[in-house]
Amino acid sequence: MSHIRSSIQTSCAYCGVGCGVSVSPLAEVTPHVNDEQKNSKASAPMYNLEGDLQHPANKGQLCAKGERLLESLVQPNTLRYPKRKSGKPIDWDVALTTIADSFTKTIAEFGPDSVAFYLSGQLLTEDYYVANKLAKGFIGTANVDTNSRLCMSSAVSGHMRAFGEDVVPGCYDDFEQTDVIVLVGANSAWTHPVLFQRMIKAREQSGTKIIVVDPAKTATSAQADLHLQITPGTDSLLFNGLLQFISENEAQDKAYIDEHTEGFDVVLHTLSSQTDLVKTDQLASSLGLTESELTQFYQLFIANEKVITASCQGVNQSTSGTETTNAIINCHLALGHIGKVGCGFFSLTGQPNAMGGREVGGLATQLACHMGFSAPERQLLADVWQTESIAKDKGLTAVELFDAMADGKIKAVWIMGTNPLVSLPNTAKIQQALDACPFVVVSDITQDAATAKQADILLPALGWSEKCGTVTNSERVITRQRGFIPVKGNAKPDWWALAEVAKRMGFSAAFTFSSSAAVFKEFAQLSKAVKAQFPEKQFDISGMSELTDAEYDRLAPTQWPVTSAAMLGQTERRLYQDGLFSTPSTKAQFIATQPLKSELSVGQHQVLLNSGRSRDQWHTMTRTGHIASLRASIPEPLVALHPIKIQQLELNDGDLVCFATPDAERDLVSCEQSTSNVQAAARVVADDNQSPDMAFMSMHWSSQFSLGKGVNQALNSQLDSISKQPGFKCQATTITKV
Ligand code: SF4
Repeated sequence: MSHIRSSIQTSCAYCGVGCGVSVSPLAEVTPHVNDEQKNSKASAPMYNLEGDLQHPANKGQLCAKGERLLESLVQPNTLRYPKRKSGKPIDWDVALTTIADSFTKTIAEFGPDSVAFYLSGQLLTEDYYVANKLAKGFIGTANVDTNSRLCMSSAVSGHMRAFGEDVVPGCYDDFEQTDVIVLVGANSAWTHPVLFQRMIKAREQSGTKIIVVDPAKTATSAQADLHLQITPGTDSLLFNGLLQFISENEAQDKAYIDEHTEGFDVVLHTLSSQTDLVKTDQLASSLGLTESELTQFYQLFIANEKVITASCQGVNQSTSGTETTNAIINCHLALGHIGKVGCGFFSLTGQPNAMGGREVGGLATQLACHMGFSAPERQLLADVWQTESIAKDKGLTAVELFDAMADGKIKAVWIMGTNPLVSLPNTAKIQQALDACPFVVVSDITQDAATAKQADILLPALGWSEKCGTVTNSERVITRQRGFIPVKGNAKPDWWALAEVAKRMGFSAAFTFSSSAAVFKEFAQLSKAVKAQFPEKQFDISGMSELTDAEYDRLAPTQWPVTSAAMLGQTERRLYQDGLFSTPSTKAQFIATQPLKSELSVGQHQVLLNSGRSRDQWHTMTRTGHIASLRASIPEPLVALHPIKIQQLELNDGDLVCFATPDAERDLVSCEQSTSNVQAAARVVADDNQSPDMAFMSMHWSSQFSLGKGVNQALNSQLDSISKQPGFKCQATTITKV
């Protein structure tokens, strides 16, 4: 799509709320644009952008980042042509043939698992689908993972263990129709601002209570009715205690438990061996709470008919994220609060299309349409795709994949729409991996990203304002992303580049897509076949399998499942209302969980370092770092420390410090060795919102925008053992004045 038309409805590029935006050529709205606006839009003078009043996620609202989407369009150093590492521009045909030849040669010599794809929650569903079809269907490797592994894979594992499928049962409407909202490890005021504003409005209108569980004081906790400032790493203990409280007070929904769940008694039995749970005062002390705070929370949870618990990276980005997710879900199952209005567990997704990627098998641990690697599931895929090369088993997850690359096992990789050299933990190891990999392809919109500079072949991808396809937000709503500006240079859709490489690798018949509509239609037809054979699966877009190109083009936001064309445009629906889950027995599973075992203690010169997002920036800043109005709030890397800690460390507010974790590999970046080459560095800012042992530094910074290399240079790649999601939170880190 390269022509301009009036008022185009598309979706915001930044977070999982998935707000709809409406873009119009500025000429048509001139009467509504004042002189100040005309002048201030020097970087994007041609369009007007506002929230889409019709979109169910935001109903016209946008946050600061969303409002400035147009300012992101003038990207410094936009990549317009394919290039070699030398910087020499090359034709698409040369680039695609080079990639196909290199992948084919590598596979012939070292086998299918010697190649890998590392994708992104920024890709459209169509891009994700073609990448997965090529890798898992025709190359025969499941070494396809995504940066979504870094943000929600613990929630995915928790869903699968409890419900039998990666399903978010509720919808945003539930936050407005509930009595109590519990936000766990979620600074939603900053990270999901439009959804948080919906919660605040609901409180104003109907008195909803907002409870925040977070070791730190945040912009979100400042607006809470109750802030449980728990000791870091005790989230699952808090919810195990709640489950026991539910049982002791006989508040459980016995009929629901008997009819729709399994494992309740087993889980209760395991709780009896957890010594912290024996007495309330002991539990409160272990959690760092007063008894009064603890019982107030537990009472609110069981006394109200409608309670919704939402979690985000404070839960997911921990080495016990999956366990905590299941500890929370256990409590909702015990009360029968799943699939009902205003109730249940809700995973807040970080990226705009993390869920769309999960639907097509973007994670190394799944196949398309929520299928696993069982023989019948693999066979179905082989039949639909007409291939005999379906990957046999799960592939390497994000950190494992780069470890294998550093070990010389992955010899060709295609990285799309993500910047792992900044965003993955232990970035020194990622650099080692990319250095060791004989052939690196990167698809991006800029040549300035740290990872893009490592590419043997760099491919120009379409930007947000240029590309067409679909994304799925946190509440399962599929929204059309629609391009509205002419394509810059010779950039191409990612799905097209993947299909062209597939054809050059000898898979022509299966990759003859003529448009993103054709890709989506094939995906929907696969969904129809999967639902027919595995009716227990909730994921279902079979009702979209006959969409014409015109219907795809004008598709209104639609929440899955979509079982018939009559459901197009429908949203705000809940799953599991009938109490029948996706497990073989149709019953939801209580999961016995153990609180985090590792000691979250700190040495004399250490802090528990947390990384996360700040309000006005996006990921590694490649889209937002050049926008002056967004840079203004936090213009340089800061590390927030409690004044007591600053004193203990003999530092001063404003000092420049660097970090190192006590790991052998981290010694590479120890402060002693890096006095002339500062690595993970930031300026100290006194912040009594932090608890004394904790520190916070945002994830966004890299040497592209500052002196240092960013927080991930200092963080270890420790993983949740179930989801393989890295734990970016609460790592004991030495902090030293530079
Ligand atoms: Fe975009 Fe998220 Fe802000 Fe909505 S809340 S406008 S999706 S960044």
